Amino acid sequence: MSRIAFIGLGQMGSRMAPHLVRAGQEVAAFDLSPAAMDQARQLGCRPATSTADAVADADAVISMLPAGAHVRQSYGEEVLVHAPKSALLIDCSTIDVESARAVAAEAEAKGFRFADAPVSGGAHGAADGTLTFMVGCRESDFADFEVVLKPMGRRVVRAGDAGAGQAAKICNNMLLGISMIGTCEAFALAERLGLDPHRFFDITSTSSGQCWSVTTNSPWPGTLPNAPSNRGYQGGFITSLMLKDLRLAQEAAAKNGASTPLGAHAEAMFALFERLGYGARDFSAILQLLRGRLDELETPSVDA
Ligand code: NAD
Repeated sequence: MSRIAFIGLGQMGSRMAPHLVRAGQEVAAFDLSPAAMDQARQLGCRPATSTADAVADADAVISMLPAGAHVRQSYGEEVLVHAPKSALLIDCSTIDVESARAVAAEAEAKGFRFADAPVSGGAHGAADGTLTFMVGCRESDFADFEVVLKPMGRRVVRAGDAGAGQAAKICNNMLLGISMIGTCEAFALAERLGLDPHRFFDITSTSSGQCWSVTTNSPWPGTLPNAPSNRGYQGGFITSLMLKDLRLAQEAAAKNGASTPLGAHAEAMFALFERLGYGARDFSAILQLLRGRLDELETPSVDA
């Protein structure tokens, strides 16, 4: 049995930590929210009184926090001060590449082994234990990080050195945001041209236009039974999180001299959609903005 400190038990962390408990690990949990701490207790974790308390005798520390500032503060002021040097440190939050590299450098300077390991798969993947972890760490350390993460995911893949996990995550999600908008534009045009959207789905899902946004998360209600579009765009990958990742991608592009014009368009469109009040809907709901049918978001869709 290993002792694992889990910091941040929100939407994701509260679904990830139970897999470690089930795998026989002793999990010490800490979250600033009292409600999250109550839930952690019910999930079989030991409630810690602070991050310092949680990490004090840990073999590994896993964090799942909102953004770069939280990670910098939590590691700078608590984890790197109170964890034993032998502890493996793994940040699974989605944060900017710069912060991930800065925390990794600070951790290494103090003698720790650190990995950035953001995830793909969302809350459902966290609950099912089917997340993909994209890991940035030294090659020689990867096998040890993989052992800790494996109970919570289907795939643990090393993307490269420090920060590479975050880089892989934001590049992937920028592509996803762009491909969803392209998919929605194609459906909206198909409709205007008098094509039956279900027939268009049949064709494009087996033609060269196919992509995850078509075949797994189709925005047109009734084309895929399990897609969020079939339940009023509830659940799934919400617009505000897509927007967060697109903003991280644009910041990274600006700082590193990359040209990402479609990523910038996607960010602007999802920002508008969020401002209109749809930040909590699955990002495929942007179809209704492109169709000029936001009224269809007022009532849940039904299975066709
Ligand atoms: P969340 O807001 O539900 O949870 C974050 C938790 O961190 C909260 O419970 C908060 O109280 C806690 N917290 C904040 N600062 C803290 C501190 N200093 N010490 C201890 N606890 C602290 O967010 P989430 O949806 O669980 O997402 C967590 C991370 O995972 C984010 O970086 C997000 O971008 C990423 N992510 C989320 C999803 C998703 O579908 N929700 C998918 C992939 C990646």
